[in-house]
Amino acid sequence: MAERIDGKKIAQEVVTIVKTKTVELLAQKHVKPGLAVVLVGEDAASHTYVSSKARMAEECGFLSVRHKLPADTREEDLVSLIETLNADPAIHGILVQLPLPPHIDSGRIIQLVAPEKDVDGFGFVNVGKLRSGELGSAFLPCTPAGCMLLIERVRGRNLSGLNALVVGRSNIVGKPTANLLLAANCTVTIAHSHTGDLAGFVRNADIVVAATGRPELIKGAWIKPGATVIDVGINRIPAPERGEGKTRLVGDVEYDAAEKIAGAITPVPGGVGPMTIAMLMANTVVSACRAAGLEEPVL
Ligand code: NAD
Repeated sequence: MAERIDGKKIAQEVVTIVKTKTVELLAQKHVKPGLAVVLVGEDAASHTYVSSKARMAEECGFLSVRHKLPADTREEDLVSLIETLNADPAIHGILVQLPLPPHIDSGRIIQLVAPEKDVDGFGFVNVGKLRSGELGSAFLPCTPAGCMLLIERVRGRNLSGLNALVVGRSNIVGKPTANLLLAANCTVTIAHSHTGDLAGFVRNADIVVAATGRPELIKGAWIKPGATVIDVGINRIPAPERGEGKTRLVGDVEYDAAEKIAGAITPVPGGVGPMTIAMLMANTVVSACRAAGLEEPVL
């Protein structure tokens, strides 16, 4: 039976490191990490995400600033806000919650965030650094960075020569995760919706990262014995066995079958999910350390 990778526990360990560094920053440099979260519109899921990020920032001892703007906010007003936050020395991380309303050019807004405050790691400077292997000065996108930490907790820091398969090629998860695995000297394959014989690629992989948003796409029987399986997918499916109209969350991997074969596997929920917010906190404290000239925490 596979080891069940406890994302909640590992995320909590990251948060503890962040809190310790925050205390150190305040004591030694009189600096409090500042995270600004910007939300435009009324999307219910976005409101929930933003609230939990802001709450976690407060729990970490950060200055936590929320900017909630109406759905009809003009793009130029959002631009002004980002420019103000870029120039504010009390703010070390700026997060613009996506999606933005359709009348706003999301690409333009994302690229406006100063690279040294881009704690989501979506701006071209940080994407380019990751792509070039300049990880030391980059901000790594939170979900991929969280996946890597989970993999390292199971496999150790030396992943050299392992076959890694990333299923999904989004800019947010798939591509940056593949770049991180490549930087860790894995032999990396990226599969996507046009890939034939997905099963064949999965069978050959020592590490599988699934990020497709397709419920239980990856069958347990495909998994290589002993493989490390990281399931990023979050899919809500009908669960009539729980009562009429009920639903449940599943990942992109057929968990029950996969855990009989894999060496280690993340559950959904409770695997990758909790890591994303923890890594956002880590990026923010790293940003504050860089600004203040204090050594960065080691995760
Ligand atoms: P996306 O829709 O942007 O990308 C999905 C990718 O999957 C695409 O590259 C597509 O080519 C690939 N794909 C689709 N069908 C496929 C198939 N049949 N075979 C192989 N590849 C296929 O999604 P995303 O933003 O990368 O998110 C992926 C999943 O991860 C979603 O379920 C999302 O909710 C979840 N997610 C979770 C977290 C977290 O914190 N846990 C963060 C981000 C995304």
